[in-house]
Amino acid sequence: MFKAARVIFGALVLCALGCREESNSPARVAQSREVMGTLACVTAIAPDETTARAAVEAAYARLDDVNRLMSDYRADSEIGRLNALSAGESLIVSPETFYCLQRAAEIAEASGGAFDATCRPLVELWKQAGRQNALPDEATLAATRERVGWQKIGLDAATRRVIPMADGLQIDLGGIAKGYALDLAGEAILATGASAGLVDVGGDVRAVGEHTWTVGVRHPFAAGLIETLALSSGSVATSGNQQRFYMIDGHRYSHIIDPRSGRPTEQAPSVTVIAPDGLTADAWATVFSVLSAAEGQARAAELDGVEVLWIWGSAEQPQIAATEGFTRHWTGAATTQPSG
Ligand code: ADP
Ligand code: MG
Repeated sequence: MFKAARVIFGALVLCALGCREESNSPARVAQSREVMGTLACVTAIAPDETTARAAVEAAYARLDDVNRLMSDYRADSEIGRLNALSAGESLIVSPETFYCLQRAAEIAEASGGAFDATCRPLVELWKQAGRQNALPDEATLAATRERVGWQKIGLDAATRRVIPMADGLQIDLGGIAKGYALDLAGEAILATGASAGLVDVGGDVRAVGEHTWTVGVRHPFAAGLIETLALSSGSVATSGNQQRFYMIDGHRYSHIIDPRSGRPTEQAPSVTVIAPDGLTADAWATVFSVLSAAEGQARAAELDGVEVLWIWGSAEQPQIAATEGFTRHWTGAATTQPSG
């Protein structure tokens, strides 16, 4: 996670949209920077410009904190250090990393194993397959699946000690940490004294405070947006294989793995989730990319506060399904142009 260069068009659009909002507050500051291998845009509204600027800085500091603690590409991060442990060894981690691991385990259970933060060996296997343009053989796939299983991480809440209970366990918080980083950045904006803020990292956004923002959902098959949403407080996250995928034998494989089969998911090319917080939106967007449409729609109906938009089909005929709660956020002002 936090590595691949991504198409950042959506984030730019969101920033521009965000900046066009009218506000009675005297100061509004928006700044774009590169974070976690993608483009971020943080906007803060505050009584004065100094406070708004401080709020934006505080938000970026929290985004950097999460990357430093949880990137699995950094050997010196807590996740990097956990991934170097053998069975039975352990590490005491920060409250932030522990919280993410706890929530990842809860969502793994609630999603019937569709979400699994130990799927890194499978992610790496399929990445390698993409580089070599050859499918992994069944024996390698089976051996790699053996190394995956969220129940194999011991979590001792009293001490924040994390205990891998099998050798070769590899944690990847790529499906959840970005959303959590959005939440921490949003909290930091309010704590600095700003009245509202919008944190956008690669098109996943978190709104906090007293303001209604316009948030774009990127069209998966064309330039521009397929929908725009009104968001006062909460988060919108999108998962899909439109920007990040591997080609093997001319077939496109998603960067999201179905841990139940060990193979890249074949589901909806784009899933957008609205939830009260970024962690929930981010992780469930990944879950709904794994679950079949029928499984997903049944699961979405049972979840409080989680609204889902599925997009599939083609540029000529995009097909959309959404929970009723999701459609209540639509503003009907999409700006889609056919892709050239
Ligand atoms: P994006 O990174 O595009 O926002 P997601 O939020 O859906 O996409 O996260 C995908 C990342 O999550 C993958 O790159 C990988 O690191 C990790 N991942 C892949 N499959 C799963 C899964 N089934 N459960 C949890 N994490 C996953
Ligand atoms: Mg996600």
